[in-house]
Amino acid sequence: MENMQPLRVLELYSGIGGMHYALKESSVPAEVVAAVDVNTTANEISPTHHPNKKLPTKTIQGMMLQDFDKLNFDMILMSPPCQPFTRIGLQGDVADPRTKSFLYILELLPRLSKRPRFILLENVKGFETSAARDALLKTLRECDYSFQEFLISPTSLGIPNSRLRYFLIAKRPPGPFSFPTSAEIMEGFPMSESPDSLTVPHNNPTSSECEREKSGTIIFKLETEQELERKRIQDSQETVRRLQDFLQEDEEDLDQYLLPPKTLLRYALLMDVVQPSFRRSVCFTKGYGHYVEGTGSVLQACVDVELESVFKNLDLLSEADKLKQLLQLKLRYFTPREIANLMGFPADFTFPKHISVKQQYRVLGNSLNVHVVSHLIRLMISK
Ligand code: SAH
Repeated sequence: MENMQPLRVLELYSGIGGMHYALKESSVPAEVVAAVDVNTTANEISPTHHPNKKLPTKTIQGMMLQDFDKLNFDMILMSPPCQPFTRIGLQGDVADPRTKSFLYILELLPRLSKRPRFILLENVKGFETSAARDALLKTLRECDYSFQEFLISPTSLGIPNSRLRYFLIAKRPPGPFSFPTSAEIMEGFPMSESPDSLTVPHNNPTSSECEREKSGTIIFKLETEQELERKRIQDSQETVRRLQDFLQEDEEDLDQYLLPPKTLLRYALLMDVVQPSFRRSVCFTKGYGHYVEGTGSVLQACVDVELESVFKNLDLLSEADKLKQLLQLKLRYFTPREIANLMGFPADFTFPKHISVKQQYRVLGNSLNVHVVSHLIRLMISK
């Protein structure tokens, strides 16, 4: 890898630059030649767009074949909008206007004067059963790529955060990858890559967690025995790190992240509450800090109080007593920095001052786990 010519990389749907950081972490000699995204907030945060590399805000369809040819890129890293493949997006799939730009890319690929050697795509779980995925595979076959699909959650790298996602890596000229490929979608990393992952059984989110993440609706129900059991298993996985390694010291005013009384009273029984010593958290989505159920875990900052004792018989108490009980736990949201830590963003990743906390949660929720993608980039490149 060391004596390789730097690869020219095109980042599509670049958002806040998750792919950019993954590329950097992978140590693959590379240079991002363009990053394309229509979201101006995300562009202000993305390292390829700021501070001096101001790139114009463009739509992908706003770029012509010649524009792409001029970039003369060797690799595409992309995470197309995922809403068309989730239930909340009504699974519009290829009929959804948000899939247009992706279909446009598929149309362009065979017509490029030089086809890129590598392509990596990230999307939500659900993409694997879509017509968009069928179209992607068809194009890749026609353009002579070898490829492998994966469903991976950061938990398989020992990170205490569930974020089950679909990935595809492709290369040309076609040939074997450094790991045994399979026509099936691989769940987790192939054996050669991450020996640790083998000792971590499937502590990916169960379907119910995915469902909630997808549907986004508020379902008033309590945890089932099964869910509790799954959580107990996750917390006993010693190959997964504890949340405390990812938390901010009290340097910042963390009180601003405390859950307001109204939220506590209304949603107490629906929240996924975790303690710093726990080895799990649910996927943080873009509604975090705003909607409560299914958008991400909340942290019990005061662990001197037993969770069970607070929640037991909570229903029988008056509002005032209920609140008194709940306030003891000092439940707070994870800060954007903590979520960025769990998602593998390096310390030099920062938000410009004027970006609100709500906006920070939004763009983070759209982004990806940097470590997972970095591993995949290395897998894609290595012979
Ligand atoms: N991987 C990114 C996030 C991808 S989310 C990250 O690390 O942050 C999908 C992104 O695609 C969003 O930021 C959205 O603004 C952008 N997008 C959607 N349609 C687009 C289009 N037609 N052209 C350019 N960008 C688009």
